[in-house]
Amino acid sequence: MSLGLTVVGSIAIDSIQTPLAKRENILGGSAIFAAYAASLFVPVQMVGVVGEDWSAEHTKLFQQRGIDTEGIEIEKGGKTFRWFGKYLDNMNDRETLDVQLNVLGKFKPKLPESYRQTKYLFLGNGAPSTGLEALDQIHKAELVVADTMDLWINIARSDLDELIRRIDGLVLNDSEAKQLTGEINTLSAGRKILDFGLKFVVVKKGEHGAIFFSRDGLYVVPAFPTEEVVDPTGAGDSFAGAMFAYIVSENGKLDERTIKNALVYGTLVASFCVEGFSIESMEKLTSAVIESRLAQFKKITAF
Ligand code: AMP
Repeated sequence: MSLGLTVVGSIAIDSIQTPLAKRENILGGSAIFAAYAASLFVPVQMVGVVGEDWSAEHTKLFQQRGIDTEGIEIEKGGKTFRWFGKYLDNMNDRETLDVQLNVLGKFKPKLPESYRQTKYLFLGNGAPSTGLEALDQIHKAELVVADTMDLWINIARSDLDELIRRIDGLVLNDSEAKQLTGEINTLSAGRKILDFGLKFVVVKKGEHGAIFFSRDGLYVVPAFPTEEVVDPTGAGDSFAGAMFAYIVSENGKLDERTIKNALVYGTLVASFCVEGFSIESMEKLTSAVIESRLAQFKKITAF
């Protein structure tokens, strides 16, 4: 099978509490959402670590989508990373109630030999040192995109700076972009991050959409408005996974048309992600369902 996008990131068992519902021990993690979303557009290879508590059913779910799971390492005697999150009444802000790093704490990604020729690498949210180790194993990547979070800005700034120097695109939240640069304005923050030497930066603004920055231009995309927000977990990862996968499907081109389409597909896939817990609502996605939402999106954004 030809390589498409290689995704490295966290694989988690999440327990989520929202103002309306609670679900325990469900599939989560940055690699899970990003890989699943990306697989709607291109072949995907996954890299991550799990413990002996991992269910083979989860792996099957990914294999059924054609995702190559050879890069999922099962650590003997270990337990899978666990994250416990609670959403506030606005369904946007969240608190981490507990984190059990388990096998993720010592994760050293090992890319199977067959993945090392990949041209496209997505580093889902995780320790920047993990991203650097994955990068060291790739022979010649053409486009590398990473996602990050406030935790790494706080505790691993020098690794993150090094990672940023070695990648092409960075995806992060509005508040994280401001934290990374000390700016209070989103546009100033995005432009400053671009000046770190990146080809592009995407600043995610949750229910308010996203802004894409490159030296050629700035594009904005609103979020797809949905009333059915069940669980926002993974929206950012699925947005980034689908967006990058669309760019890969266009052979890594970064022209205006490709970028705009990529932003829209990322937005649409994320809108499905939030309509269910874990990857449940993405499991039902087909290209026909996505295209129908695309038609709705065009109608409400065109003027
Ligand atoms: P998102 O909602 O897109 O920010 O992604 C949420 C996912 O990130 C959850 O499924 C968590 O399991 C995972 N996650 C939470 N904290 C961390 C962390 N410190 N490192 C890696 N993944 C994490």
